Amino acid sequence: MRARGYLVWTDDFRAASRPKMTEKRQFRAIKGTRDILPPDSALWNWVEQTAREVFETYGFRDIRLPIFEETELFARSIGGESDIVFKEMFSFLESRAIELPQSPSIGRILQLAELVNGAWERGEIPKTARNEAEFGRLSHAHQQLQSGPFVPLAAMTAPNRDGLETAVQLLATILDSAGELGVQTSLRPEATAGSVRAYIEHGMHALPGNVKLYYTGPMFRRERPQKGRYRQFYQIGAEVLGPSDAPAIDAEILEMLLVFFARVGLTKTTLYVNSIGCKACRPKYVELLREELRKVKDQLGPDSQRRIETNALRVLDSKLPHEQPIIETLPRISGHLCPACSEHFSKLKDELKLRNLAYQENWRLVRGLDYYTRTTFEVTAEGLGSQNAVCGGGRYDGLVELLGGQPGVKGIGFAIGTDRAILSIQESGNLPRLPGLAVFVAWMGAKAYPVAVSIARKLRNRGFAVELPPEELKFKKSLGLADKLGARYALIIGEDEAASGTYTLKRLADAEQKKLSETDLLEHLESERRGPHA
Ligand code: AMP
Repeated sequence: MRARGYLVWTDDFRAASRPKMTEKRQFRAIKGTRDILPPDSALWNWVEQTAREVFETYGFRDIRLPIFEETELFARSIGGESDIVFKEMFSFLESRAIELPQSPSIGRILQLAELVNGAWERGEIPKTARNEAEFGRLSHAHQQLQSGPFVPLAAMTAPNRDGLETAVQLLATILDSAGELGVQTSLRPEATAGSVRAYIEHGMHALPGNVKLYYTGPMFRRERPQKGRYRQFYQIGAEVLGPSDAPAIDAEILEMLLVFFARVGLTKTTLYVNSIGCKACRPKYVELLREELRKVKDQLGPDSQRRIETNALRVLDSKLPHEQPIIETLPRISGHLCPACSEHFSKLKDELKLRNLAYQENWRLVRGLDYYTRTTFEVTAEGLGSQNAVCGGGRYDGLVELLGGQPGVKGIGFAIGTDRAILSIQESGNLPRLPGLAVFVAWMGAKAYPVAVSIARKLRNRGFAVELPPEELKFKKSLGLADKLGARYALIIGEDEAASGTYTLKRLADAEQKKLSETDLLEHLESERRGPHA
């Protein structure tokens, strides 16, 4: 069967562009994406490796998640009204085998009927005479079900029950002939939703204690690209899921974060914390905020005006200069937290002091995603201009249950923007000395070549980065290239050296030369590597 969303597109594309395929053209990376090239990629690897090392000392373990998930997973967790879900996701249609459950609920039947409808319109279901007829009847049954009140099966009126039975039968036949139907899928804009999905799918609540996970990888948001803001960007994140919401968990995750930032040389950072309350207290505060915002609506910009009704907390995020004095007069959540949230927040602050972690309270830190409860936090760094947030995170206690998991599971996590962390390290000039090319083997003469190959392998076996020219070079050219490649040493092997078994090791920085046997050479390089200047 033809007709999977992206395949249709590929087929159309092939047909449309066939005549042009022979013309020469160059390609560039798509807007908002970029290549990370050497030597920058070495800095990236080092930053990610440092995160792994630090996080593992806190008991976190790596989780590798898919890069695309069902769109609905993101819509449910991040929130349909958030900018991310509303306008920034890269979505496409994927195919998935769908089976009708043994005794489906009305909700599930309506959902499947919607899916069949969409698939029918896209031509994904074979248009056989039988399917045409069944589909007509299904549409009728679907309408009947939709128009009826949503009542339990037992309490259903006869026409509705009939409608339901017909719909089930028809769905069964159509799904049977379709085999697979399209499902809306999106490239992940963040990885908390996927982590929670995986936690539930693999029954990780049964694991002992809190489950601590970390991930690294690309995320995708269709934002307006600028310095520090890309459509494919990278995050290093961590999540703690489990039965406890002790403030010490929040504090420990913040400690880990700041230890990591210090380890990679990002010291000019500021940690902001806030509590945005829970299901019990936040709605009341949001209502109060909304009332106050309505009073000043005329003075706000269009975005904030829209958000008053859709996502009032987000108004506090506004950066518009003329809205700032107005926002400052609005009621603050700290005065409206319920006793449990208030206590949680004050214990968190005690824990931060206990760990000597400097922080600032920021009552306007609400974060854009729906799933946050209580603790929210952000870290900013210097040298990044307007996109200065390098990390964001918070608690999401109800998310596991919202996504169909065990009730009562609590969660907290953060995501570091790797691109921005690296930009900030580069701007600070505080770059680590990463090992580069150690030895350039300058060989000359056919008899020297086998010796050069053998020594290069031995050095590489010991972990040294070695460049062995594939073709013979003149002496001067060889040393010139060694220099340009930034090699620490040139190992000179001519035919005489090959015959005598003694080689010249030249340190390129100061031209110091030593004549060494193979054993001495290996020992010398090892001891230099161990030494203070290695
Ligand atoms: P969020 O998932 O929105 O809480 O973002 C967490 C961190 O990811 C932010 O603090 C940024 O450092 C980074 N980030 C978010 N969106 C982008 C983007 N479009 N480009 C680069 N970094 C981003």
